[in-house]
Amino acid sequence: MPDETADSSVGELEEPPEQKKRKREKQPQLTRAGQPIDRRQRLRIPPHHVTKQTPHDRIHNWREVYFGYTAGPAMFEAQRCIQCPAAPCTQACPVGNDIPGALAFLEIGKLADAAAVFRETSEMPELCGRLCPQEALCEGSCVIGKNAKPVAIGKLEAFLGDWDREQRGGFPIPAPEIETGQRIAIVGSGPAGLAVAEQMRSAGHDVTVFEAWPSAGGVLRYGIPNFKTAKDIVDEKVEALAAAGVEFRFDTRVGVDIDWDELSQWDAVFLAHGASMGKRLGLDGERLARVYSATEFLVRANLDDAKLPSALRGDLDVGRRVVVVGGGDTSMDCVRSAVRLGAEQVTLLYRRTENEMIGREEERRHAREEGVTFEYLTTPVGLINKDGAVVGVECVRMSLGEPDDSGRRRPQPMPGSEFVIDCDAFIVAVGYDVGREVYGDSGIDVNDWGEVIVDEHGRTSRPGVFAGGDNVTGADLVVTALNSAHAAMPTMLSYLEELQTERALAMAAG
Ligand code: SF4
Ligand code: SF4
Repeated sequence: MPDETADSSVGELEEPPEQKKRKREKQPQLTRAGQPIDRRQRLRIPPHHVTKQTPHDRIHNWREVYFGYTAGPAMFEAQRCIQCPAAPCTQACPVGNDIPGALAFLEIGKLADAAAVFRETSEMPELCGRLCPQEALCEGSCVIGKNAKPVAIGKLEAFLGDWDREQRGGFPIPAPEIETGQRIAIVGSGPAGLAVAEQMRSAGHDVTVFEAWPSAGGVLRYGIPNFKTAKDIVDEKVEALAAAGVEFRFDTRVGVDIDWDELSQWDAVFLAHGASMGKRLGLDGERLARVYSATEFLVRANLDDAKLPSALRGDLDVGRRVVVVGGGDTSMDCVRSAVRLGAEQVTLLYRRTENEMIGREEERRHAREEGVTFEYLTTPVGLINKDGAVVGVECVRMSLGEPDDSGRRRPQPMPGSEFVIDCDAFIVAVGYDVGREVYGDSGIDVNDWGEVIVDEHGRTSRPGVFAGGDNVTGADLVVTALNSAHAAMPTMLSYLEELQTERALAMAAG
């Protein structure tokens, strides 16, 4: 008689641990889209590079330098991803894009699914894919990069965003399921402002964006030159938000054209006015004709008059010889714009060496290819005036001393090394400050640099007012601006919900 109480099936199915382990090893590992991963085979796939304009061609136009991927090469490049379970690339991405997840769809041609993965965590993947310093973020952490070129994550992300917009005829339009009737004011329409506008409108709130300039986009339109990002992407983003009902009020400066009394009629405010005030050097002669701040120079070089405030309209006169001072990506944007404006001799002054420069190596390489001369260990000490216009820059050579607070070696002038560079225009690209006029009498706490002080949820010292982006962190990346907007969003949504409940209770109580 069989023992009815014994579970014989358990004994039959149970395998010794060794056998279990062997079986598990034989199971092919799958991508997140269900494809088998043969890591050794994937490591043998050569990189598929994107093509770009030659330096000779590109200095004669303002179009983007890179042509970007098409579907076939993008799918091959995506196959180079070995689908690391820990995804260090995702961990290094400020918005946490699920990169292996997207590439798993891309490699099998499911482009819409791949694009959707990027859009889950980013409001503008086609812009981040173009503008992030990938070598310091996602691609810098890609394990393939240890022995070969990392997977071209940024360019694949840009390709997918572009492909997706082409199929849809623009960015996805937020479609709220409910209308809350609550009103949100957003100050500034750069990346952080646009991201908050999208999320708030998607949640069913009425959104008004106040923009001091005549068009939306902030740094995306007024800071980044056309050869890095075509402005039609920014136009499409703004059109999608406007189509969803977001109201844009242009040429409106908060703190000047609209005060905080009026602003307090909105249920919540998000400050995203950025950091766009070009720093000055403090030299005599900085007010001479043809001396420009980076902001003024870049907007006038890259935009039609119709998109500019009246004070900045008119021909931009740079002459034959342009000198730019600075060491970051903005200074590269300036020298490369000067080349495209037809300057024959463009010189960059930087007070340290290339090793201490903070911008992207790729930008410097592009500038050199386009004929820019770099004068390292050189700083301007005066401007030469002729008939009210700059005609030369007095410079001094520097040597490097001990490291300063930033860890970079401190530059010191070398006595007797003064010399002059003749020029027809001089551009100051030494960083940006946050404008303070926005704060008016709001009582919002700011630090010595005018940056808004917030907690980890983006809350300012004034209830109902949140902040994110460059006006909180100082001038930084587009993707870090998105990240700080994302950090504030959940708290802002909870705040609005609580406000709604409080009002409902007050009404019920009569
Ligand atoms: Fe890389 Fe930037 Fe894209 Fe993140 S957002 S995946 S860091 S390019
Ligand atoms: Fe793929 Fe590189 Fe990310 Fe690994 S680190 S999942 S190889 S992109």
